[in-house]
Amino acid sequence: MTSDARTPAGASHTPAGASRTPGGALLLDGVSLRNRIIADLRREVEALPRVPCLATVLIGDDRPSQVYVRNKHRYAQLAGMASRNETLPASASQQEAEALVTSLAHDANVSGILVQQPVPSHLDGEALLALIPPHKDVDGLTTASMGALMRGAGTLVPCTPLGVLRLLQHYGAAIAGKRAVVVGRSSLVGLPLAVLLSRKGIDATVTLAHSRTEDLADVCRDADILVSATGQARSIRREHVKPGAWVIDVGITTSDSGVIGDVAFDEVQSVAAAITPMPGGTGPMTVACLIENTLTAWRQQHAR
Ligand code: NDP
Repeated sequence: MTSDARTPAGASHTPAGASRTPGGALLLDGVSLRNRIIADLRREVEALPRVPCLATVLIGDDRPSQVYVRNKHRYAQLAGMASRNETLPASASQQEAEALVTSLAHDANVSGILVQQPVPSHLDGEALLALIPPHKDVDGLTTASMGALMRGAGTLVPCTPLGVLRLLQHYGAAIAGKRAVVVGRSSLVGLPLAVLLSRKGIDATVTLAHSRTEDLADVCRDADILVSATGQARSIRREHVKPGAWVIDVGITTSDSGVIGDVAFDEVQSVAAAITPMPGGTGPMTVACLIENTLTAWRQQHAR
């Protein structure tokens, strides 16, 4: 890349074959990177003496959750792993759900456990998460995993934040010393991403913005790396983006016309240096990182 206003200082490399948007921004293609990660994982899995197994727990009949879970199994299998889809009806009791998670926790054949969120409202999802042992927490969302992340010790990092980091790194974003703004502070995405980006060794200077942030556009315009994870469709506009920023869209809003991101792609791509598509950016990376975490979990269990 040449050095101009749209090239963040220090951007190290652009992978061969990378595409650009009509306005010239580098397209951060999560589909091709996911496929590459899954193919690499498959080679690693084929060399193992036993196959890792991802177990999911799906309670109820939420359609998007069913689609997400099916996708997770598809990529686990493409990576050469075993996968188990445990389901309970929406009427399941807390006791039944806890018994299922506990049995998976004790099952030596299960490497990773994921309880698909949200669970039906009469259930205590936090109590279910708490039953997942840290070494099988492939979603990285339990209190123990989040605590380890804060301490800089976590190896099973939440999948969406890890996927964002992998995209930035793969496409050669300069991160160390740069200003990152993360919009959205949930414990699923925004908060762990802010912690991850500010970790020693990654070294971004991070601002965590949310619905009470004043002058959000001004705050965002300070960012070399801008990540939006709010679920507010097309709320990140051209005026939120500094020329040359890397813009990552995590938000998903489903509409009759399909999936809409937080970022107004058409106008932002003409000012950003790099941008994720939606769909096709962070979603596939979330799945890739879940499968990567399952292999990491397997290795930790077998290193004992
Ligand atoms: P939450 O609803 O838990 O959190 C949303 C966050 O956005 C909150 O911190 C909220 O602020 C903030 N927010 C809401 N409106 C605004 C606004 N107008 N300006 C600034 N901040 C705002 O959502 P999640 O974190 O679980 O998910 C966020 C989005 O990411 C969703 O669309 C979800 O579907 C998507 N998602 C995508 C994934 C992927 O793989 N691409 C994976 C997981 C989620 P406050 O805290 O003040 O309320």
